[in-house]
Amino acid sequence: MSHRAWAEINLNNFENNIDKIRKYTGTGYLCVIKANAYGHGDIEIARSAEKMGVDYFGIATIDEAVALRKSGIKKPILIFGYTAPEDAERLVHYSITQTIYSEEYAELLANSARQLGVCPQCHIKIDTGMNRLGFDGRNPQKIAKALKKFLGVLAVTGAFTHLAVADEDKQQSREFTLAQIGQFNSVCDYIAAAGIPLKVRHYANSAQALRGENIPLGDMVRVGIAQYGLSPFESDTENALKLEPVMSLYATVAMVKEIDAGDSVSYGRCYTAREKRRAATITIGYADGYPRALSGRGYVLINGKRAPVIGRVCMDQLVVDVSDIAGVKIGDRATIVGNDGTESITFETLADMTDTIHYERMCAISLRVQREYVRK
Ligand SMILES: *Cc1c(COP(=O)(O)O)cnc(C)c1O
Repeated sequence: MSHRAWAEINLNNFENNIDKIRKYTGTGYLCVIKANAYGHGDIEIARSAEKMGVDYFGIATIDEAVALRKSGIKKPILIFGYTAPEDAERLVHYSITQTIYSEEYAELLANSARQLGVCPQCHIKIDTGMNRLGFDGRNPQKIAKALKKFLGVLAVTGAFTHLAVADEDKQQSREFTLAQIGQFNSVCDYIAAAGIPLKVRHYANSAQALRGENIPLGDMVRVGIAQYGLSPFESDTENALKLEPVMSLYATVAMVKEIDAGDSVSYGRCYTAREKRRAATITIGYADGYPRALSGRGYVLINGKRAPVIGRVCMDQLVVDVSDIAGVKIGDRATIVGNDGTESITFETLADMTDTIHYERMCAISLRVQREYVRK
């Protein structure tokens, strides 16, 4: 472990979160580990989730899926989006389930599968209003007809849709979600009646899974953000399950020095001290995923106190003002995301300050930030 910039991943929190969510939903559980498990490290996270007995994994790319298989992950893995049709053989070889989301795509995958003499497992994606990927859910006859062409070439084992506004509390959004679920279920019923058996049907992301409405959740929920301990809801709805954040982010004080009135700090000289200050250089920058947009606006925690970022965030470093924090010295730990004493910074905090969502802040934590897995 190099203690330059590192992410502490608390596997106990992760496992407790899964446990709470499963008890709450009472359904099967697809553990979403796309994008390196939202920055947490997909292999370690998958191992821990597999021990917890999750039913499925959800991922975005075939390379991620193959890496999981090579590291010994056994549970079914579903790729949510496009995989090049030429990869049909790898899909089968590594027993990875592919999403088919249009007649055109299914045709390409089926042709490739025929040529290679393989029969990939597939889930059908139904578009019920997201308009991203999916067979048009308004036309179940057409879907059933298309799917019948691929019987025996593509092994369909499930169907799913994705909800566009499950995180929103507005009445209009709740109605849209209900309409999506309704359309999805009727498409599934139609397809099943047409002779295409669907073993699993799924549609609930974290937000829908944790809504607490009296609406069925399908055969399994697909949980991403909530298992990492962050709220899936648009507004800061009280987190009734008391899910705990899994990732904390730290860096180190590399240097402490006095700066005089009139001295400027970092590129562009955007900050100039008005009086004598004490500054500390911290070992994290935008190449680690700390947003450059927080130049002159963000803060880190040292010795339980806030140290504001002064000047521009650089690629590998940033500078903070520690004039009001006693005893800061080289080697001290700076908390970038996490708790220090009574203070805390969350990925939501960083997201709010940079006009985006916590999902983006989390998966921006780059690979050179070492992940340290702990149980406490
Ligand atoms: C990312 C993703 C999820 C998980 O969403 P969360 O809001 O993180 O729970 C579920 N389903 C699909 C298809 C996804 O792409």
